[in-house]
Amino acid sequence: MISCQTIIEAMEKIAPHNLAEEWDNPGLLIGDPAQKINKLIVCLDVNNNVINTALKEKCDMIISHHPFIFHPLKKIRTDLPQGKSIQTLLANNIAVFAAHTNLDSALGGINDYLCHLWGLHNTIPLNTASTEELIKLIVFVPVDYAEKVRLAIGKAGAGFVGKYSNCSFESNGTGHFLPLPGTNPFIGEIGKTASVNETKIETIFPAKIQSKVIKAMLKAHPYEEAAYELHSLKPTNIFTGLGRIGELSTAIDLEDFTAMIKNTLPVKNIRLVKSNNKKIKKAALCSGTGAEFINRAKFMGADIYITGDVKYHEAQKAQELNMNLIDAGHFGTEFPIVKYLAKKLETIATKNKWQIKVLHDKASVDPFTVI
Ligand SMILES: [Zn+2]
Repeated sequence: MISCQTIIEAMEKIAPHNLAEEWDNPGLLIGDPAQKINKLIVCLDVNNNVINTALKEKCDMIISHHPFIFHPLKKIRTDLPQGKSIQTLLANNIAVFAAHTNLDSALGGINDYLCHLWGLHNTIPLNTASTEELIKLIVFVPVDYAEKVRLAIGKAGAGFVGKYSNCSFESNGTGHFLPLPGTNPFIGEIGKTASVNETKIETIFPAKIQSKVIKAMLKAHPYEEAAYELHSLKPTNIFTGLGRIGELSTAIDLEDFTAMIKNTLPVKNIRLVKSNNKKIKKAALCSGTGAEFINRAKFMGADIYITGDVKYHEAQKAQELNMNLIDAGHFGTEFPIVKYLAKKLETIATKNKWQIKVLHDKASVDPFTVI
């Protein structure tokens, strides 16, 4: 048995919270990070089927792609579907967690999984996540002053990791120095080697606030000459972002490509907007709703774009751009992640010898039926 927090931390590695779009609402939506988890179920939506399976299987946690609570709640009416579900989940102590746009964007997330399914390689995001340059600061401080310096640099904006502030790492050791003539040492005497118990503080901050952080650090630091290092960190998000574009090993006919898409997804049909008869070599995709990236796919040289929820005028726009377009449905492009995510969590659980069972929803189907 492990804590809900342990699962949250595992999910943070799979789909870092800071990759979520601003309007999104991922994370723990119902429950307590301290509650114990024996069994969890992964799903696309927290619907009645999933809640009933969770109850029957005695699951303590549901991990969904779509956030169960998305819009702020003004009331919890237990006579209405969502309120009734919240009541059931709380009464049965079932935690609910969501990884939404952060799972879409993440390296190894939904869109990367679709690339894997379709044999696309050399993939990059269609819409890259922010790639702000970060600076790593390492500063050595007498042990008694560590907290003062840590708080000062935190106040200046250092140590933001996702939605956490004041993040830093500390280790203790011994610093040695020889004050030379003309100095005014805080500790020790001129001409005599001194040894001091020091704390090494490590943290990061965006390059644009470097002078503010260093100024705050020097002000709080007791030494005349503070010892510190600055390292520029390469942006870490270059492989994350919404959608992907990649290449097939060999160009194939549009008909073969569309058949391959249909055969690899949980769909009975897909909709094709045929704009030309060119062979397909470069394909762009975005799981769920992604028609907003048709232009981007065209600009990046895709021969075809695959997404879901395409409207009439968006299909027309693809034709105007001479871009082949496939609407494989919202459910069709996202449901495959359920089994894949459960497998990832199972692998982490086995590796860490966690005593938990990971189930995945097999019962949900696309709400649309084609007659
Ligand atoms: Zn979706």
